[in-house]
Amino acid sequence: MDIEFFGATGEVTGSCYLLRVGKVRVLLECGLIQGTAQHERHNHDPFPFDPAQIDAVILSHAHLDHSGRLPLLIKRGFNGPIYTHRATVDLCAIMLEDAGYLNEKEAEWENRKRQRKGQELVQPLYTREQARAAQAHFQALEYAEPRDILPGIKLTLHDAGHILGSAIVDLQLSAGGNSRRLVFSGDLGHKGAPILRDPAFIRQADLVIMESTYGDRHHRSWDETWQELGEVVSSAASGKGNILIPAFTVGRTQEILYSFKQHFDTWGLADWQIFLDSPMAIEATRIYDRHARVYDDSATEIRNQSGGLFDLPNLHLSRSSDYSMRINRISSGAIIIAGSGMCSGGRIKHHLKHNIWRQHCHLLMVGFQAAGTLGRSLVDGASNIQLWGESIMVKAAVHTIGGLSAHADQAGLLEWYAQFAKHPRVVLVHGEPRAMQALSDKIQQQYGAEVIVAGYRQKLGL
Ligand SMILES: [Zn+2]
Ligand SMILES: [Zn+2]
Repeated sequence: MDIEFFGATGEVTGSCYLLRVGKVRVLLECGLIQGTAQHERHNHDPFPFDPAQIDAVILSHAHLDHSGRLPLLIKRGFNGPIYTHRATVDLCAIMLEDAGYLNEKEAEWENRKRQRKGQELVQPLYTREQARAAQAHFQALEYAEPRDILPGIKLTLHDAGHILGSAIVDLQLSAGGNSRRLVFSGDLGHKGAPILRDPAFIRQADLVIMESTYGDRHHRSWDETWQELGEVVSSAASGKGNILIPAFTVGRTQEILYSFKQHFDTWGLADWQIFLDSPMAIEATRIYDRHARVYDDSATEIRNQSGGLFDLPNLHLSRSSDYSMRINRISSGAIIIAGSGMCSGGRIKHHLKHNIWRQHCHLLMVGFQAAGTLGRSLVDGASNIQLWGESIMVKAAVHTIGGLSAHADQAGLLEWYAQFAKHPRVVLVHGEPRAMQALSDKIQQQYGAEVIVAGYRQKLGL
């Protein structure tokens, strides 16, 4: 038995690990590489294994850095089942199709340039059609229901509390008279986060593979975070400007809507018109609605009392671009939630153009902003931004709410690891080198455990 690491080594994207148990080969994750254009080109590289030889895939959750190359794996010969949580199957349907659409657009744009230069044309990484074809491979599982998926491989998924359907992957393996238990954290949620249950604790493992995104960070408390958010809404009410919220479609958007529902009266939200301006976020919210059985206790209680988490009386769902353009004409009293979360694309750019130069406008940044994105330059205090070749001054008040993270911080990661009896060997993945090193040092100091920071193509015996 062994496992080889083909992605998310020294970085957070491109998760992909190959597990061999006797003659059986299982791929854990098949994620997209995300970052600079040059780095993303590696998505087109041949897989460092033969996709046709893979017996099954196990997917921890729907985020593209974990799922985004599944349609490519199938296109290149994989023909087995993909085991994942039932909610992840639904989220993947919209997220992979959207990724396919973006691939088609990107290839079209590139090919227009290439045609003019007389160069050879490129193919999209995969198309919408190919993304849809992946759906037939999914096998939906529930949490805490062990399933024998292949000879010598028993799989159980547990709550990871990161996004809807996110799972910790718990594998009981046996081959040649040996048995081992391997636990892969997937992406671990931030304890106390709204809607979902906290990450499950697992007591037994021979090897733990663990994410380390925020291995060197500490989050602000939830109470402080909600207070901050409430203060922004209240202070914006006096100036009567609009509030713009760039938000990730899956997860952050639903958390914001749910927090509005919980604090509707105290934050004076009845005085606003709230717009969810994103067809994909609307669809993701419906999927969150359909999977209420994975909610935590408070979300379940609110749902039982009022029928839903996201049904605000003054919430308007904007699907068409005509509707979106009509929102542009509102200069006061609107809260607009739109993607993309880092302002690098999507409808939020139009709303920025129509609002950011107004003094009473408030821009509420609720997610991580990567270096080089428009969102990051706004957070860093840019006085002007460029949109479609036009320079626009920034008069809006920009607020950063740092506590809304979908990942556990260092304390959360350590607490999760500490629950394992006998402090098993641990492999760190899914983190920048600095975060991984900080977490590695802490685990070694506090628990005396053997910690391995996974390297690209590193192979470990089990
Ligand atoms: Zn994730
Ligand atoms: Zn991830």
